[in-house]
Amino acid sequence: MKTREEYIESLRALHLNVYFMGQKIDNPVDHPMIRPSLNSLAMTYELAQQEEYKDLMTATSNITGKTINRFCHIHQSAEDLVKKVKMQRLLGQKTASCFQRCVGMDAFNAIWSTTYEMDEACGTNYHQRFRDYVQYCQDNDLVVDGAMTDPKGDRSLSPSQQEDPDLYVHINEIRPDGIVVTGAKAHQTGSVNSHEHLIMPTCSMREEDADYAVSFAIPSDAEGVTIIYGRQSCDTRKMEKGADIDLGNSTFGGHETLFIMDHVFVPMERVFMCREYQFSNMLVERFAGYHRQSYGGCKVGVGDVLIGAAALAADYNGVPRASHIKDKLIEMVHLNETLYACGIACSAEGKKTKSGNYLIDMLLANVCKQNVTRYPYEITRLAEDIAGGLMVTMPSQADLQHEEVGPLVRKYLAGAKGTDTVNRMRILRLIENLTLGTAAVGYRTESLHGAGSPQAQRIMISRQCNMEAKKELARKIAHLDTSLDKPQGK
Ligand code: SF4
Ligand code: FE
Repeated sequence: MKTREEYIESLRALHLNVYFMGQKIDNPVDHPMIRPSLNSLAMTYELAQQEEYKDLMTATSNITGKTINRFCHIHQSAEDLVKKVKMQRLLGQKTASCFQRCVGMDAFNAIWSTTYEMDEACGTNYHQRFRDYVQYCQDNDLVVDGAMTDPKGDRSLSPSQQEDPDLYVHINEIRPDGIVVTGAKAHQTGSVNSHEHLIMPTCSMREEDADYAVSFAIPSDAEGVTIIYGRQSCDTRKMEKGADIDLGNSTFGGHETLFIMDHVFVPMERVFMCREYQFSNMLVERFAGYHRQSYGGCKVGVGDVLIGAAALAADYNGVPRASHIKDKLIEMVHLNETLYACGIACSAEGKKTKSGNYLIDMLLANVCKQNVTRYPYEITRLAEDIAGGLMVTMPSQADLQHEEVGPLVRKYLAGAKGTDTVNRMRILRLIENLTLGTAAVGYRTESLHGAGSPQAQRIMISRQCNMEAKKELARKIAHLDTSLDKPQGK
């Protein structure tokens, strides 16, 4: 396994084609706006080296028997699924941001079982290829960006009906030695901090969309790739010197990109689906299921930090014993642990797939994510309620440090007797960062849309809930004589 430093050095060796705010970024590793996201990802390496976290952060490879980072692991039991969620909560607590490495782990596990079942049905050889690829990633302890979401153009049209065929990733050409692909993936979490990109189809496909049913892996700096780094609210604060208080979280962050591929060549040994449109749905559903489970860990860890920050803000405001404040904090904990309970439940109920790895319980994973689309908003609202308006009207760090107005800021921003004003400012800025600053990208909007927007989970919940079985239960209990019912509409 790589150390944190080895990981950072390995990123320097990549020749990424990255653009940000209209400029090509030659050295993303040291860029002040990108670095906090790298620090978050590096935490997945750092904790894996620490004895106290080894059980959660590492696993034994089912391919080589070696100890590997859990982010590269193929889940071998329901216990592995539970440990995954616990690991994500831990990392959320340590970084209070998105640590980006989960998407690759979820892609590994979804493609693992899908290629196995695809080979069984189609007589292809994808699973062995994929196994070799996973081993390569495990042996080199790589960060792999699992890439699913296409730009999608006109949402009412299928991939092959789009005016511009590139709005969904598709095959341009199949050669004996590989394929050529074009298209883009949007909202790519951790893209610039990843060694590899593992591409999956974005939705279920029909026969006419077969060219869009494609899965493959490419190095992040493959020929023909352009990465455009996304903006986050308040991001330029990271460029200001001496503004660590104003940042709220000056060390950690997340990022998303638009990842564009223009006639990229993929060698055949890195192709894991090539026109098997019947299997794109299985891959999408399994990946989404795993990533919906993931949110029951990471968002909960970030929630822990936000709840702690709100409780500290109450201390600095001098109201920790007010009954309504205590009640709001309890409500925040209740909501946060409800998210966690669902993440653990869908893991503990996980079942073995035909390929031997473990898949979460799909219904519970979708319920987990549906809760994630709501509760962080309520937790956020309560945190802002407790913090008070000062978190958005407070003067800057530069004012605090100004010769003339600095003493005035200290005087008028004083909180409870005996507490430090700067500490009070720091904690309010952290709440701002999480609720409407850069980290709100991960904690709010990503909670809503990441791993599928709310409607996607509702569709899965309706498919998985087995309503007929529930009706049958009710029929029996109520002693219905169904022979008396006249079926409607016939
Ligand atoms: Fe991991 Fe959460 Fe970031 Fe997704 S949003 S990559 S689950 S930390
Ligand atoms: Fe995500």
